[in-house]
Amino acid sequence: MFNNLSDRITASLKGLRGHGRLSEADVDKTIREIRRALLDADVAVPVVRDFTGRVRERALGEEVSKALNPAQQVVKIVNDELVDVLGGATGELTWAKNPPTVIMLAGLQGAGKTTLAGKLAKWTKDQGHTPMLVAADLQRPNAVNQLQIVGERAGVPVFAPEPGNGVGDPVQVALNGVSTAQFQQHDVVIVDTAGRLGVDEEMMQQARDIRDAVHPDDTLFVVDAMIGQDAARVAEAFRDGVGFTGVVLSKLDGDARGGAALSITGVTQRPILFASTGEQLGDFERFHPDRMAGRILDMGDVLTLIEQAERTFDQAEAEKTAKKLQSGQDLTLDDFLGLMQQVKKMGSLKKMLGMMPNMGQFRDQLDSFDDSQLGRIEAIIHSMTPSERADPKLINGSRRSRIAKGSGSTVQQVNQLLENFKNAQQAMRSMGRGGGGGMPGMPGM
Ligand code: GDP
Repeated sequence: MFNNLSDRITASLKGLRGHGRLSEADVDKTIREIRRALLDADVAVPVVRDFTGRVRERALGEEVSKALNPAQQVVKIVNDELVDVLGGATGELTWAKNPPTVIMLAGLQGAGKTTLAGKLAKWTKDQGHTPMLVAADLQRPNAVNQLQIVGERAGVPVFAPEPGNGVGDPVQVALNGVSTAQFQQHDVVIVDTAGRLGVDEEMMQQARDIRDAVHPDDTLFVVDAMIGQDAARVAEAFRDGVGFTGVVLSKLDGDARGGAALSITGVTQRPILFASTGEQLGDFERFHPDRMAGRILDMGDVLTLIEQAERTFDQAEAEKTAKKLQSGQDLTLDDFLGLMQQVKKMGSLKKMLGMMPNMGQFRDQLDSFDDSQLGRIEAIIHSMTPSERADPKLINGSRRSRIAKGSGSTVQQVNQLLENFKNAQQAMRSMGRGGGGGMPGMPGM
């Protein structure tokens, strides 16, 4: 997510370090680099202009000239302005005073609406709501069926038109869906609507008709973050054609360059409420502008990491892990194995590591990291005795060959794991001391 943008902005800011005072030329050089990075990341031109203008003005102002560490002050300014461009405060859904809260999804075909419907349903359900999904996308042949599958996975009922009843009227389906939900006392209704490959008037009209029939509390515009520059244009068309209260950025797990995220709020004046980061139900986060800015500036997003952990970890384990991370206690291989198993539940270690601070410098290792290696690591640790896991120093040469044999790996792979584990342990220690030393090596192979 935003890797290239992040690398370039952090590199240009690093260039300021070590300057006691910042000259106008220093600031302008940095601003130029940031401007180029933003444009290459497909951020809309007016947004780039405003952003760099504000950063420049502040960077040449008093707050920097009087700062003890001017370079750090500029980083703070860039962070503030990034937060602002991403929407400022975290946006909220409009919950209805009289349930059900009706949430309508709109966007182009393939944007990720149906996938999001399932994620949103699960997310509200996990918070104690009783959501229902409504399949009002009757345009795409398989859409109703896809929503039913997604609903089943999320454990959320789906209101769908009877099969074989001709083409069906999406407005009527949406209306029936909402009244059924009301009758069955569901407190959230999520209405999936049809999209087209491009913006067209017929699609907008249908979306407007559904909107006018069900009076959504929230209309969420779902947009594929990978479409870059086009995102702002499509967003404007939807804002004018249907109107929406919030944005969901989907496919942020891909090599989205960041343009959509950084342009959309400025262009539409609507907050980004959620981010979709994969095809699984759990690949979903609330969008926090401050945390996203932190990720772009490679300061990490430990809060989201912990929240995701809490969502998938069982509470006792989560607390144990969090305490360990915070107190800087030494990890044992058992902790390591436990973490790994929980990480597997969360989806991807690669994604998780990407949220740690200062990971930019390990980008190559991160990019080449393969989650399937986790299986081998597990097998190796399983082949150790409990005392070896508690105290890896016990693992001498003959033990290493025994473990390699038992796990179907080579002694070299066992050595590599132990070496990487030692590095991870040290990194944890330095983070515990607030050193923020990052990860010297992937815990994998
Ligand atoms: P819709 O036409 O707007 O309903 O889009 P879908 O929900 O059917 O999604 C289109 C495709 O994108 C499907 O293959 C999804 O699995 C995939 N998809 C949706 N959201 C994400 C995401 O956040 N990340 C990735 N990598 N794929 C996604």
